[in-house]
Amino acid sequence: MNAAKRSTARLETGHNAGRSVGIVGGGIGGLMAALAFARQGATVRVYEQAPALMAVGAGLQITPNGARALHDLGLAAALDAASLTAQAVVPMDGLTGRPVARFDLSHQIPPYRFIHRAALIDVLAAACADAGVTIRLDAQIRELHPDGSFQAADGPVRPDLTIGADGVKSVVRGQITRATEPFFTGQVAWRAIIKQPGADPVARIWMLPDRHMVTYPLPDGMMNIVAVQARNQWAKEGWHHTDDPGNLRAAFADASWEIKGLLGAVEKTNLWGLFRHPVAENWWQGSVAILGDAAHPTLPFLAQGANLAIEDAYVLAKSCNQHADVGAALAAYQTARRARVVRAIAAANANARNYHLSGLQRHVAHTGLRVLGRVAPGAFMKRLGWLYDHDVTV
Ligand SMILES: Cc1cc2nc3c(=O)[nH]c(=O)nc-3n(C[C@H](O)[C@H](O)[C@H](O)COP(=O)(O)OP(=O)(O)OC[C@H]3O[C@@H](n4cnc5c(N)ncnc54)[C@H](O)[C@@H]3O)c2cc1C
Repeated sequence: MNAAKRSTARLETGHNAGRSVGIVGGGIGGLMAALAFARQGATVRVYEQAPALMAVGAGLQITPNGARALHDLGLAAALDAASLTAQAVVPMDGLTGRPVARFDLSHQIPPYRFIHRAALIDVLAAACADAGVTIRLDAQIRELHPDGSFQAADGPVRPDLTIGADGVKSVVRGQITRATEPFFTGQVAWRAIIKQPGADPVARIWMLPDRHMVTYPLPDGMMNIVAVQARNQWAKEGWHHTDDPGNLRAAFADASWEIKGLLGAVEKTNLWGLFRHPVAENWWQGSVAILGDAAHPTLPFLAQGANLAIEDAYVLAKSCNQHADVGAALAAYQTARRARVVRAIAAANANARNYHLSGLQRHVAHTGLRVLGRVAPGAFMKRLGWLYDHDVTV
């Protein structure tokens, strides 16, 4: 990265200096926003409802587009220490266990990484502490007023800017955009981590009719598993719960022996109903903005939910730093982000269909992928250039 480019978030002083910023939600998006604003001289307070900063234990793929923003805030070395560098993505026939193609990730700059969600939260939280961010735990914000003020445990708060980074069930979103109930997407996902020392650093996408499974290794010899099944309804109370690993194995009873071997090692699993909203029409009002899942929850089939939240946070801070007027800053933020996010979410939805094909369609799609992998593997990655090559730091 050259010196001129470095000036975007870390070094440039601008209109964020001296601003007070209140952030509802201390997940990946909230902490990233806290760090970006604090580095630009804002006084930042994060209000997180949980008693500790934590992430339900599972893996996360940080793609180069998200990594660029993290690197610009000085987190490259910490990420390297906490993650594995991905070498390839390998679509697999989940019935036969054979690879369909192999697409190289080893030349991605910055690297494409596999990391524990909790490790990413730790990296962000340590950097936030270093940058002077105040994080209040056990601090659920129940209601937001139209002027961006809210009641915190130690009294009423009225920051210059209020950010809703409070996830798919956001209370902040309800304040600034048409109220919508999250809808069930017709997919459920089991997540599990098993021991698998020595696995090659490759993401495998195991495709089966009406199901797929994504596996990739994590540091310390673990393997992350996300197994997705199409279902008509989600009848359980709540969004996720622990499930009997036997149900996961039963759902993949006709899969290849490799999948059965992996699932045989699962001792504990959580089952998620995958819900989302339409992408919010408005991402801001007055001095309040939303980001990440609060603005645009996505299916996880492009590994972009956290990456988009990271990009949002960076662009929001950058835009506020460039504008004296908060309204102008937030309008520019939405303009910079919304079309890209809509495109990414559409691509994730398309993956849901492509991974789950059956019969003749499946045969044709796998044959196409096989040919592409043999004759023009670079073309596959080039098609994702709009996603991975995007650089929010310029
Ligand atoms: C199965 C699965 C696999 C995934 N894999 C990937 C992947 O590989 N790569 C990727 O980029 N993304 C992935 N994602 C998506 C990613 O996890 C989310 O998109 C991302 O975590 C969104 O970050 P966020 O900060 O917007 O919201 P969240 O992570 O949901 O954080 C919101 C925070 O706000 C807090 N909060 C909520 N309400 C309040 C309140 N009223 N007051 C105070 N605090 C509150 C919550 O406790 C939470 O800490 C996956 C998702 C799933 C379900």
